[in-house]
Amino acid sequence: MRDVFNFSAGPSMLPEKVLKEVQKNLLNYNGSGMSVTEMSHRSKYYEEINAEAESLLRELMNIPSNYKVIFVQGGASLQFEAVPLNLLRKGRADYIVTGNFAKKAYSEAKKFGDIVTAASSEDKCFTYIPKIRKGDFRKDIDYVHLTTNNTIFGTHFTKLPDTGDVPIVADMSSNILGEAYDVSEFGMIYAGAQKNIAPAGVTVVIVRDDLADRALPSCPTMLKWQTQIAEKSLYNTPPCFAVYVAMLVFRNLKEMGGVSAMEKINKRKAKMLYNFIDNSSFYKNFIEKKDRSIMNIPFVTPNPELDEKFVKEASKAGLLTLKGHRLAGGMRASIYNAMPVKGVQKLIEFMQKFELANK
Ligand code: PMP
Repeated sequence: MRDVFNFSAGPSMLPEKVLKEVQKNLLNYNGSGMSVTEMSHRSKYYEEINAEAESLLRELMNIPSNYKVIFVQGGASLQFEAVPLNLLRKGRADYIVTGNFAKKAYSEAKKFGDIVTAASSEDKCFTYIPKIRKGDFRKDIDYVHLTTNNTIFGTHFTKLPDTGDVPIVADMSSNILGEAYDVSEFGMIYAGAQKNIAPAGVTVVIVRDDLADRALPSCPTMLKWQTQIAEKSLYNTPPCFAVYVAMLVFRNLKEMGGVSAMEKINKRKAKMLYNFIDNSSFYKNFIEKKDRSIMNIPFVTPNPELDEKFVKEASKAGLLTLKGHRLAGGMRASIYNAMPVKGVQKLIEFMQKFELANK
C-alpha cells in the first residue's frame, strides 16, 4: 500500500488495485509474451481490450443503444473544436460559460459559427452556476454546450437546463463516472480520461446516432466522429495503453457497485470536507453551497502566505498536489473516484493540526 494521497486535479490517482494489475501484466499480458505497450492494435488481444472497454462503459453509464461510443485522442480540448465541426449545420450554438474550460470551448466554437453565451458566471469569478430558463436560449440553434463539473473553480450542475429539443453537448471531463447522469438527456458527451478513467491520452466520446454523422464538409477526417465510429475506434493507432487501463478501471468500478455506489461514496467524502471547512473560522470555500462540486473542492486559509505554507507542509505529510489552480489561488482538493475516504480523513486531520499551529 502506498501511504501518500494525491489530490491532483488531473492526471489523478488511479485505484491501487488497477495499478497492481497493470504492474503484474506489464511485461507479459495474458500470456501473450508482450506488454500492452508493445502490441499491435490489430492484435486479437487489443481488439478484446477495446471491445470490453466500450461494453463496460456502456453498462456503467447505462448508455442507450442509439448512442455511439468511441475512444479518441487530443484530449477534451480537441473536442472543443470537434464539437462545432461535427454539429454546426445551422451554424448557431449557445454556450453556458461556467469556468475556464467552458470559456475555451466557447472561444474555439466561435471560429466556426454564430456562437453566443446564453449564461455565464464570470461576473462572480465562476463561483456559482447561473439560473437558466428555456427562454434564455436562441431559437434555431444546433446545440447548447455546458461543462457538467468545473474543475478549477469547483462547481457542478445538479440539474441540467431545459433546452427543449435542442441537444445538450457536455464536457464531462471531471465528473464522468463520479456521479450518475441520464445519458439520454444529452446529445453528445466528451471527457478526457485523466481524472476518473485512465492515464492521459484517451478521450471518451458518446454521441447520439442522429448527431454522429453530420459533420461539416470542411471537418478534418481525424476530427470527424464518424471516422472512428465506422472503425470502432481503430481508424488509426489508438492510445492502447490508456484504453487498457480504462478497461481495468471500468472493471474495478463495476466490482465496486457501479456509478451510483461510487456517487454515494463521493458525496460522503465531499460532505466530510465541506462540513469541516464550513465549521471552521480559519478555512473558507467561496462556492455557492447548492452548486458545490463533489469532485474538486477549493479552499483558502486567511492569507496567501499561509496557503503556501499549507501546501508545502501538507506535501511533507504525504498529502500531495493541493495547490489551487493559478486562476483560483489557494488550495484545491480533487477527490475523484480513486481517492479513498481515508485520504479525505487524513486531509481533515492535517487541516485541524495546521489551523491549531497557525491561528
Ligand atoms: N474540460 C475540463 C472540465 C477539464 O477539467 C479539462 C482539464 N483539466 C479540460 C477540459 C481539458 O482537458 P484536456 O487536457 O484533456 O484537453
